[in-house]
Amino acid sequence: MRPPSIPTNAIPESYNYIAAFLTFRCPFHCSFCINKLQGGLVLTYHELPGDAWIDFLTRLDTHGVPITLQGGEPGNHPDFIRIVKEVSQAHPVDLLTNLAFNLNDFVREVDPERLNREAPYAPIRVSYHPEQFTLDFIMKRVLFLQDAGFRVGLYGVLHPDQHDEIMRARDICLDRGIDFRTKPLLGWHNGTLYGDYAYEDACGGSAIGTCDCAGSELLVAPDGTLHRCHHFLYNKLAPIGHIHDTPLPRADIPRPCAHYGLCNPCDIKIKNNRFQQFGHVAMQISNIQTATHLFHISEVASTSTAQ
Ligand code: SF4
Ligand code: SF4
Repeated sequence: MRPPSIPTNAIPESYNYIAAFLTFRCPFHCSFCINKLQGGLVLTYHELPGDAWIDFLTRLDTHGVPITLQGGEPGNHPDFIRIVKEVSQAHPVDLLTNLAFNLNDFVREVDPERLNREAPYAPIRVSYHPEQFTLDFIMKRVLFLQDAGFRVGLYGVLHPDQHDEIMRARDICLDRGIDFRTKPLLGWHNGTLYGDYAYEDACGGSAIGTCDCAGSELLVAPDGTLHRCHHFLYNKLAPIGHIHDTPLPRADIPRPCAHYGLCNPCDIKIKNNRFQQFGHVAMQISNIQTATHLFHISEVASTSTAQ
């Protein structure tokens, strides 16, 4: 815990998610990786050193929202283990990872009790990518962490081309005591848009309109810039600010956007909030100037079980 004399940066209480993208580097090359730019180029950002991440994240007043360290592969950041160690002293920390880092160093340096907590999902969430590595390979790594006392979940995306393998993996993992869960595919595949979205024409694939849009997430790029949504983050569009700005720029203020139609599925899908209540949508979009959109947020709110 920091002494009270050290100033904190507070996020709005309405925020539902805090994502620190430590790096977009990753040793794997999944065909459906959302971090790839058009033409297959890999997304790159200048990367903050570990001290800058630790200073910013430990001073953040999060109102109890966990800080999710992710990428790319966050374990590829040179100070990854130190960041996990230090930030987890101040806040609940989640990891989205494919475990492509030195697990021996990790279990030696990080106390599992700093990461483990009561929650409906594991704090270390590992992706299984059948086109990049075998089930046996990733299961051994998950079990290694579990045996060291960490709570780990393994996740597979129900991509149509991998459906059978993911279901096979689920059965084997559940048998071996691994918390395996499936995730729906989001986005386009073979001309079909997968996922349930609050604004159906928002990820049609072409810029088709303007709108006002407000977020509910703190999205920090590897270089410390803050982004209003995943589309702006992944395309290196104008950030709303930087972690060094005081006070922190807010993403929850409606701002005009001319990219409606190119939205990232993560931002407009209807999902659980951090309390696992269904019906949450990250972005609140209004004043859409375009062709008819099928659902408006107010309709979603009136038909969902919880907000
Ligand atoms: S493991 Fe994740 S970040 Fe790496 S290439 Fe695959 S989808 Fe992208
Ligand atoms: S309309 Fe889409 S692209 Fe524009 S800010 Fe909102 S979520 Fe991002």
